[in-house]
Amino acid sequence: MYSVDEALAKILPEFKQLSARQVAISHAAGRVLAADVTAAIDLPPFTNSSMDGYAVRAADVQAANTILTVIGDIAAGTFPTQIVGTGQAMRIMTGAPMPEGADTVVPIEDTDGGDRMASTLPTTVRVNHAPEAGAYVRPIGEDIQSGQVVLRAGRVLRPADIGVLAGLGIAHVTVIRRPKIALLSTGDELLNVTDPLTPGKIHDTNGYTLSALVRALGGSVIRLGIAHDTVADVQRHLDRAISHGAHLILSSAGVSVGAFDVVKSVIESMGAIDFWKVNMRPGKPLAFGQVQGIPFIGLPGNPVSAMVTFDVFVRPAILKLGGHSWEVPYDEAITTEPFSSDGRRTYLRVQVDRRDGDLFARSTGSQSSGVLTSLVNADGLLIIPDGMTDVPAGTRLPIRLF
Ligand code: AMP
Ligand code: MG
Repeated sequence: MYSVDEALAKILPEFKQLSARQVAISHAAGRVLAADVTAAIDLPPFTNSSMDGYAVRAADVQAANTILTVIGDIAAGTFPTQIVGTGQAMRIMTGAPMPEGADTVVPIEDTDGGDRMASTLPTTVRVNHAPEAGAYVRPIGEDIQSGQVVLRAGRVLRPADIGVLAGLGIAHVTVIRRPKIALLSTGDELLNVTDPLTPGKIHDTNGYTLSALVRALGGSVIRLGIAHDTVADVQRHLDRAISHGAHLILSSAGVSVGAFDVVKSVIESMGAIDFWKVNMRPGKPLAFGQVQGIPFIGLPGNPVSAMVTFDVFVRPAILKLGGHSWEVPYDEAITTEPFSSDGRRTYLRVQVDRRDGDLFARSTGSQSSGVLTSLVNADGLLIIPDGMTDVPAGTRLPIRLF
């Protein structure tokens, strides 16, 4: 029997960060950047006005109510060729380049021009009071300077990052490939969600929960569907995973000691498989191996066990493949009721309340590994450490919040 940590120490080294590829920035949000991005230009690329108003020389307008001669207009998207001399001003729009000679913008509201720009250019403008020198001017390179590393490898790209890339004129970035995870549900009792229930059958839920979990981690899913408990059918499904170039094959059920469990014999014939008893609850049986060099993890069939063992063993493996950090962030919660364990590391489905900076955890009800609503209602998994059997109310325990 392995401890959870021993099992993890055997699984994780088999997963290495995938290679990189180029993607268009419109598809890059949420992806992991594979190489530093360096700016080749300044942003903004030219000094410009942050207001609609007048570009002036601050030294000219130190007295209140100074009148300046207006020598031209600068619209956004144009580039001024005139030079603002002493006693002169140019009307300027937000985002338009500052003309040579001017160092300050006086917003239209602070002039005799009223609240909005007239359609015709006035010949003079009165500046109501002295502006601060440099006011409302956005200098070239204020945001980003050419040569600066703006985004570092390993970063998970966020919407603002994509905006920065677009601003820099970078249309494609190098990101880590998405892990391709083949999902197989096994069992003669399983039906597709679209099939009506017949006696003795249940709908496949693991195919859906695991698929959603994989996608939430940035992986893409190869749905192998449901394999019957026969060697031929399991084999046929695994062949599909291989031909699709899966980075991991994940199956659920068929790893216990049930008489019809054929996963073991099929994988043994195609690669190698180890059956582990992991000292945890729920989800004791776990299979780990490879199918023609592709790592294989066999999760228990019970819906809660499948999800919890996914969280503990598969989640970090997928994060590692995808170039994400995979260390689990644990919080701490205080139990509000007594719990017990048989000494295995136990993952309890709990709801939490936050009071005075502390988290308080209570059970979501039945902790049976078949009761999926125990997870539906849970905010996280409260962990009773190995060897601890009695947990009185008021105990502080690690919790993994979803
Ligand atoms: P097994 O690991 O095959 O012994 O299955 C354990 C339990 O999980 C049994 O009650 C199965 O019916 C159930 N089970 C197995 N696979 C699935 C699945 N894909 N969806 C829902 N329940 C499942
Ligand atoms: Mg079964």
